[in-house]
Amino acid sequence: MTERSHVKLLIIGSGPAGYTAAVYASRAMLEPMLIQGMQPGGQLTITTEVENWPGETEIQGPELMVKMEAHALAMGAEVVTDMVTRLDLSSRPFTAECDSGRVVRADAVILATGAQARWLGLPSEEKFKGFGVSACATCDGFFYRNREVIVIGGGNTAVEEALFLTKFASKVTLVHRRDSLRAEKILQNRLLNHPKVEVIWNHELSEVSGAETPMGVTGAVLRNLLDGTTRQVPADGIFVAIGHAPANELVKDQLELHNGGYVKVEPGSTRTSIPGVFAAGDLTDHVYRQAITSAGMGCMAALDAEHFLAAQDGVETVPEQLVASIA
Ligand code: FAD
Ligand code: NAP
Repeated sequence: MTERSHVKLLIIGSGPAGYTAAVYASRAMLEPMLIQGMQPGGQLTITTEVENWPGETEIQGPELMVKMEAHALAMGAEVVTDMVTRLDLSSRPFTAECDSGRVVRADAVILATGAQARWLGLPSEEKFKGFGVSACATCDGFFYRNREVIVIGGGNTAVEEALFLTKFASKVTLVHRRDSLRAEKILQNRLLNHPKVEVIWNHELSEVSGAETPMGVTGAVLRNLLDGTTRQVPADGIFVAIGHAPANELVKDQLELHNGGYVKVEPGSTRTSIPGVFAAGDLTDHVYRQAITSAGMGCMAALDAEHFLAAQDGVETVPEQLVASIA
């Protein structure tokens, strides 16, 4: 295919949101171009078993994402290995500049750049990621049935993750760096009254302890931030829940954001503050942050983009209320 420099629809990101948008947009004959970014396949490529994707009792994350890419390609999407380094939404068509030097102009854009869990940055944390260190209790909690786990953090996510883990684990220890939680009071009450939960205040994780063969976590070294002393706490799993960072670098000065950097969309849609620019998946979602919800929003974004482009072309689309009344 000759390299296209002007497309109707540009999709940025190749996680579940981006590939789902590409499938729907291709079937709507929008001939979308999808730019994969530095992590082709998105966050699921850094996990192993995915057990909550409907239709697959168990599938490896990378395999699921290869299948999604194949699906998008089969529907006719152009999938490009490149990264958008600059996006200009101030004039139309919108302009994306890529790492390779490629410049693409687009009549509509779907942003699906996702979000990344924040990590503490400890070498031992990095070493045991996927081997007992996780940032997703919903994904990995099931593996800690009748085992002891530690959760790091004091916000809503940490408390929700800790409460979720009580369903599986025999003991959940929440470690927080201060003496009060940031989480909502109702969540705090549930946590502090839970018989399986212990909270260790004013401590930070200074090292993950683990075994080499088989590779796995055995505990944590915690440092008391008031007196500097350290203690060893046994654990089979450590969940780091110190917040998520939406990948908003391309648009943070151009679009309305909320909830600490997530792209704001009109409720019930994927429309951002600039007409013709749509956002889907973890980039815009600070609550659910799952593959299936991201895919759902990718579908919505493609349908929203289709309506937008049809209106630009002067093509009448059937109002949604009329469709509903005919059906
Ligand atoms: P992401 O998957 O984050 O993908 C973002 C994409 O944007 C990437 O392809 C990236 O390369 C691209 N991108 C970013 N910047 C640019 C740029 N400048 N130019 C071009 N492209 C760019 N969810 C589940 O439902 N089940 C699970 O079992 C599960 N397990 C998980 C395990 C782990 C370890 C993690 C971290 C998450 C897990 N999740 C799971 C959550 C799930 O992965 C996310 O909710 C989902 O991937 C979000 O999809 P997304 O399409 O919004 O973005
Ligand atoms: P958050 O509110 O930013 O909380 C992050 C927590 O991690 C804080 O307690 C913080 O400590 C701690 N932390 C940050 N960096 C740390 C470090 N380096 N070492 C140790 N601890 C560290 O993030 P979040 O909980 O992911 O929530 C993000 C947003 O989503 C919030 O707006 C939240 O309300 C929302 N959210 C809502 C729900 C819900 O409505 N049910 C659920 C989840 C998330 P300090 O407190 O000391 O800063």
